Amino acid sequence: MIFFPSLFEDELFYSAQARYHFYTGNENPRMSMKEMFGSSNICATLLFPSQLSSFCRHLPVAHTYTSNELIQNHSFLPYFSPFIPKERTMKLIDLMKNGNGTSIYMLLGLTASEIRRAPLLKFCPKCVVEDEDRFGEEYWHRSHQAFGVSVCYKHMCGLVDSDIEVDQRHKHEMFTLNNYLRRRGYSLNTVVATPDIKQEFFIAQQSYVLLNNSFLSQGIDQIRKYYVTRLQAKGLATESGRIRWLEFLPLFNQYYGRDFLLKFSSYVQSGDEDTWLHKLLRSPRVTCHPLRHILFLGFVNESVSSLCSVENYKTEQPVFLKENRSDAKLVLKKEISNNRINWPRRDIEISDEIRKVASNIVDNETKLVRITRTKIGRTLRVQSLLIRAHSKLPMTQEAMNEVVESLEQFQIRRIKWAVQHLMKQKMNVQAWEVFKVAGIKQKFEDKYRSLIEEEINCFQ
Ligand SMILES: [Zn+2]
Repeated sequence: MIFFPSLFEDELFYSAQARYHFYTGNENPRMSMKEMFGSSNICATLLFPSQLSSFCRHLPVAHTYTSNELIQNHSFLPYFSPFIPKERTMKLIDLMKNGNGTSIYMLLGLTASEIRRAPLLKFCPKCVVEDEDRFGEEYWHRSHQAFGVSVCYKHMCGLVDSDIEVDQRHKHEMFTLNNYLRRRGYSLNTVVATPDIKQEFFIAQQSYVLLNNSFLSQGIDQIRKYYVTRLQAKGLATESGRIRWLEFLPLFNQYYGRDFLLKFSSYVQSGDEDTWLHKLLRSPRVTCHPLRHILFLGFVNESVSSLCSVENYKTEQPVFLKENRSDAKLVLKKEISNNRINWPRRDIEISDEIRKVASNIVDNETKLVRITRTKIGRTLRVQSLLIRAHSKLPMTQEAMNEVVESLEQFQIRRIKWAVQHLMKQKMNVQAWEVFKVAGIKQKFEDKYRSLIEEEINCFQ
């Protein structure tokens, strides 16, 4: 790879791959796969990339991404890792670095899970507008794809389904959000519904917090103990830890409502003694889906941050967990307000991309196009970024000044091209023929006559 686009905050890895594919102009996605991974036969899913070690080896020198960073910030692993044994997390990391993407679903128990993700990639229309303003382009957000999430964690508005399947079996199509919006002619003026359900928003927020923190598993047994103390606080478990199921289950159903829970296959029948809540609270060896942990936490007025914070555990925790003490709202606020663009890196990348686009334009023998700011901005889809972040992108400005052509420079390029083109076809090329082929207007003829003669002589 000569370049790879910077990944945005909470961007799905697939999304950056698709943006790369788009930038290259490759017709065949297999070609882009080969450039990124050294092989076009990559078996990955949209939520879990694979062969990341190979990908990192193919990155251009300017990039410092590591597989760990890509997994943490751009895959779905952080959503699951607090709730599965550490060894399994390690195994999943290894699979994403070196292995096969499809075995990940099995290892997470997702193939047999009752919890089903919506089948299509989603986007938030308000994020589209905001991202376009902030970054100059829109992208597929990771948090919008989480299980059971139907509203934006940030804007509280309803997410919109695209037509791109999350579990596509033919893994070789890559669509950027922009490709989709243009293909479907989606209007950003569409009125967005704001679902008035605080539980919907809670799920969206908690999924965002899970994905954007490095919470490690406390051990299923510890989680269970914490949950029992929460039930005790609500008077739904005895001091000795016995759960009052007959009171608990109806209250749980009532809190969310039957229809809401049915959407997530998580409605519990009162009187049933083997529901998912029984598994969650009684079977230390069974792992439950993160969405169900979130549902339980919502019911006991807690959050994933409070579950994963050190205060709840008497045992010594790894150092990095101590950074996550603050409560969910604070974490979320910080994440959102913290504009985490690495400007120097973005600057290097855009300037590289500009030079590459310019040389592609020059190399195009069949269609002569003048290299202008607008042309480059449009090709790279960074027009508004170039205006808004003008002062943050000095190298970009430099590259732009270097490659854009004045009218004169473009005319000279056309003349040189026309001379070569004609010389290949015939002997005794005449100046007037060059003017015609190069499309030089009559008023410029005197100006370029001697240049043309020189060029012709050069080749004879
Ligand atoms: Zn949004």
